Amino acid sequence: MPIIVSVPKETVPGEQRVALVPELVPRLTEAGLEVAVQSGAGELAGFFDDGYAAKGARLEAEVFDKADILLKVQPPTIDEISHMKEDSVLICFLQPYTNATAIRALAARQITAFSMELMPRITRAQPMDALSAMSTVAGYKAVLVAASRLPRFFPLLMTAAGTVTPARVFVIGAGVAGLQAIGTAKRLGAVVEAYDTRPAVKEQVESLGAKFAELGLAAKDAEDKSGYAKAQSEDFYQRQQEMMSKYVASADVVIPTALVPGQRAPILITEEMVRGMRPGSVILDLAAEQGGNCALTEPGREIVRHGVVIIGPMNLPSTIPFQASEMYARTVTNYLAHLLKDGGLHLDLEDELTRGPLVTHRGEVVHEIVKARLCSENSTP
Ligand code: NAD
Repeated sequence: MPIIVSVPKETVPGEQRVALVPELVPRLTEAGLEVAVQSGAGELAGFFDDGYAAKGARLEAEVFDKADILLKVQPPTIDEISHMKEDSVLICFLQPYTNATAIRALAARQITAFSMELMPRITRAQPMDALSAMSTVAGYKAVLVAASRLPRFFPLLMTAAGTVTPARVFVIGAGVAGLQAIGTAKRLGAVVEAYDTRPAVKEQVESLGAKFAELGLAAKDAEDKSGYAKAQSEDFYQRQQEMMSKYVASADVVIPTALVPGQRAPILITEEMVRGMRPGSVILDLAAEQGGNCALTEPGREIVRHGVVIIGPMNLPSTIPFQASEMYARTVTNYLAHLLKDGGLHLDLEDELTRGPLVTHRGEVVHEIVKARLCSENSTP
């Protein structure tokens, strides 16, 4: 019996992406898999049923109960998990550090679940790096949203009606999303400054034509071996806030993107700093999903405080669903191809690419950090 790979319609409110696009169906069928797509699954992203059918997928009303491998964007709900086949495989953004109930339910149902967020950052895994792909989308869109809320132009304009000075944009955190935001803001003509605790980033910021903000702070042990930032002390964050105040105050748009994996985002913009900004300025907090880098951010909302517009978007990649789906689907199919051998699943648990994103397997939570978090939750009175 061929393995059935299924793709459901996402049900989380506001989610417009889909985990597989028609162009990639042949990649799976040629590997000997059958592809079943839930009718309407790609509609919100601009991929219609006939497109999937033309590429060899079957369209079905329900897909959870027959899937041997389920490809999703968002984690499944408890109800969806109860409809999944025992011993099936799930690949999605599992939100592994905040999704204890679903992870326990997946383990109880003997589902082998892979979390795309946990892909190791090694060269071999780059084509499977879904987080970076989505950060690229988010960084770009963040600038467009901020520019549309700002009551000013971004570029320098010399017109018969006078000269318009360019907007100033300050990007905090120059990882994948931050660098994309810097590039996009530069292309729109803004004057851009940026800061990151990882010193290696300075050159990348400058190569995009932005200025690196020299705060005179030496972050201790700035990054781990995967290139992710390490958490700093409260004292460090306080000094960082002080040193950044003047950059924040002189900016028209601040785009904080600073994250530390598995932790709440550090607070880098205090209420006092917001008070110091010009009315009409915009903070687009790209760290909102992890609590926000601005103390006033309300995740999922746009608010005005002290005359400053503070936006805390929850799922920006979903607002560019066509290409976000294409990019996500490529990372997922690349990962699935890695797990396949001779038309069947081949899980080599010694391989860090297989083992790294694996969260549940054979009824157990097998990812050490996720397991430790679940245990500490259990022991909390
Ligand atoms: P991220 O989303 O976890 O964090 C965003 C940025 O915030 C990072 O650059 C981080 O250094 C920064 N940050 C954290 N605390 C900060 C603070 N207090 N002040 C200012 N900035 C702070 O990270 P990311 O964007 O996913 O990637 C981080 C790095 O990993 C990048 O250099 C990226 O190029 C690299 N990377 C490597 C691979 C690979 O080798 N396969 C894949 C993706 C990314």
